[in-house]
Amino acid sequence: MARAKVAIVGAGNVGASVAQWAAAKELGDIVLVDIIEGLPEGRALDLWESGPICGFDLKIRGSQGYEATADSEIVIITSGVARKPGMSREDLLRVNQNIVESVVGEVVRWSPDCTLIMVTNPLDTMSYLAWKVSGFPKNRVVGQAGVLDSSRFRAFVAEELGISVEDTQALVLGGHGDEMVPLPRYCTVSGIPITQLLACDRIQKIIDRTVNAGGEIVKLLKTGSAYVSPGAAVAEMVEAILRDKKRIMPCSAYLDGEYGLKDIYFGVPAKLGACGVEKVIEVELTEEERGFMERSAALVRRSISSLNL
Ligand code: NAD
Repeated sequence: MARAKVAIVGAGNVGASVAQWAAAKELGDIVLVDIIEGLPEGRALDLWESGPICGFDLKIRGSQGYEATADSEIVIITSGVARKPGMSREDLLRVNQNIVESVVGEVVRWSPDCTLIMVTNPLDTMSYLAWKVSGFPKNRVVGQAGVLDSSRFRAFVAEELGISVEDTQALVLGGHGDEMVPLPRYCTVSGIPITQLLACDRIQKIIDRTVNAGGEIVKLLKTGSAYVSPGAAVAEMVEAILRDKKRIMPCSAYLDGEYGLKDIYFGVPAKLGACGVEKVIEVELTEEERGFMERSAALVRRSISSLNL
């Protein structure tokens, strides 16, 4: 059987990390694309040369053009800029809108049947944009946010309880960034809700740290933002789709009435398999949780409406 092909647009920190995790899992041949001359080629060569040590045997190449990405099963979009001092959210949106529009146009031309995984921020807005520009059905455009946010929550719960991260499960929904909605009632340790294991104030501390986890890393790194964990989160989604695992993962998916929301990309639990987002799963919410989701959705909606479509 022919190996799958995975293209990654943007060979910066997150793009390179996705490539590394995807190679380690032998998910498929990898093509990295970037506008910076030499960067995707150099990163691809460096990773490929680790194959004999790490035990993966894949084609890994870098390119400035899209021809190399032709007929990819999955394309991950990480190209974009991060917010710099003095740059408003609207400025960032405009810059990344231009980048994402041009990139998605090329991707679709060369891989009309691919599934797109969006990473560029603002995540839910860029996922909506990619869906619009691509003309793809909603199941074939999905954004990565919740897998990462839930992983962070899980790590903090494990640390707080002095237990293995393996036994923690978490559900972080809503928009990516400050507007995320962690749902402690659905966070468990081997099936036991954390609400039975931790006092309210400890849970609130974990929620606050999760919401600010991206910023915590930015502050420590001083230049750039998290990329190892975002890369791992994306690779897990790629694996679920390529290997048709039917995994339930929180991701940014197009909603058409689910959770009372329409025409928006928003973080919800979804079944990921060969057809991409195969189902959005609706969980019961209390009045308070619903309020958090609605507030989060209003922020995402405001960002989407400022897109120049
Ligand atoms: P980075 O600056 O290291 O990499 C971005 C790369 O995109 C650069 O190499 C740049 O040359 C490239 N690029 C810019 N315009 C391009 C174009 N038109 N075509 C091809 N490549 C182009 O940044 P990073 O740390 O890798 O982050 C990338 C994006 O991912 C940012 O928007 C960041 O905010 C976002 N991000 C999202 C999550 C998430 O959970 N969704 C997590 C981390 C980062």
